[in-house]
Amino acid sequence: MYFSGGTGFIASHVLDCLLDFDFDVVVTVRSQEKGQRILESIDETLRKRTTFVVVDDVAKEGAFDEAVQSNPPFDFVIHTASPYRFTFDDPVRDCLDPAIKGTTGILHSIHAHALTVKRVVITSSSAAMLSPANHPKVYDESCWADITWEQAMNPHETYRASKVRVASLTRHHTLIEIPQKFAEQAAWSFITTYKPSFSLATINNTYTFGPIQRTLTSLDNLNTSNQRICDLVQGRMRAGIQPTAPVFTFVDVRDVALAHVLALTKQDAGGMRFYVVSGFFSNPRLAEIIRRRFPELAGRLPPEEEVEDDFPKDHWWFDNARSRNVLGLEYRRLEHSVVDTVESILRFESED
Ligand code: NDP
Repeated sequence: MYFSGGTGFIASHVLDCLLDFDFDVVVTVRSQEKGQRILESIDETLRKRTTFVVVDDVAKEGAFDEAVQSNPPFDFVIHTASPYRFTFDDPVRDCLDPAIKGTTGILHSIHAHALTVKRVVITSSSAAMLSPANHPKVYDESCWADITWEQAMNPHETYRASKVRVASLTRHHTLIEIPQKFAEQAAWSFITTYKPSFSLATINNTYTFGPIQRTLTSLDNLNTSNQRICDLVQGRMRAGIQPTAPVFTFVDVRDVALAHVLALTKQDAGGMRFYVVSGFFSNPRLAEIIRRRFPELAGRLPPEEEVEDDFPKDHWWFDNARSRNVLGLEYRRLEHSVVDTVESILRFESED
């Protein structure tokens, strides 16, 4: 078993889940020091089932060629390593290249050097499905977002674009073998073009909350999606609550991790995308849960307000039936996720 992106928020929970399922695991990290930190964070009895390999930049040509070869050889691969943030000095170098070339690169390396691999699971995103300018009534796995290369150069759109496909690219992206596609669509195109011996599944999870990763060194480096909960807990919304948009749906990271592992092991999951989403949230609802469950934090929170509707009345809906029926996922509710996230942040603050 092999997976990329060991230091990340989602990856940290995927690792826990893989060890729970008794897999031997090799994780990729960008430095020896980061790999060492992961090993030290794992319970001693499980540590002997975990090793790491350094892949310092997934965008490099052949980055995974050596990493996918091991003895005993790998049966499964999960690819999670991809930038998730909204500020970039250079959108291509800092986001689009690692997302697109990382995804196509790992598939090429497996196809060329790891023929024992039976299933590959890639962390895509609901961003690869959503069309904010033209929402359908209900989103499901048949939905694909369209975005042009020009739009991808806008830093507010770069991340969304990095995960998606593109309908009408106007700039030829010459550096990857399957041009004109962003990450997830490039992965599916790889399967139809090369017909590899492994099958593919993607996890299209939405905005993800949940306990912070064990290897975090500072809350300043907290992953993007937990930041709004951290902002509430640390009093950064005390003067007034920030708008919830553009995200309205959430999922717990432990359910996302389980989805990755079940998508590896369930025979029927091959060839499928899975929209992994639990429910709706709003910033006022997050504040309300924190106020009720952590009364000691009241002084850090924005002024109390009535929370009735979490989202506009004409809001789109989501259909997560495939993830429940094929993978058997049962989703944690918002309150459960928020309480565990806040507890993990408070624990980190007190140990810091
Ligand atoms: P994190 O920022 O916590 O993790 C990103 C991971 O990718 C880190 O391990 C990082 O390594 C690695 N990485 C980034 N760029 C490179 C690179 N050029 N070379 C090698 N490694 C790289 O993000 P998340 O865990 O939240 O996200 C992980 C995946 O999940 C991404 O694909 C993201 O698009 C997807 N996703 C996340 C959602 C969320 O709400 N969190 C929602 C939907 C999808 P390092 O730590 O060393 O920088």
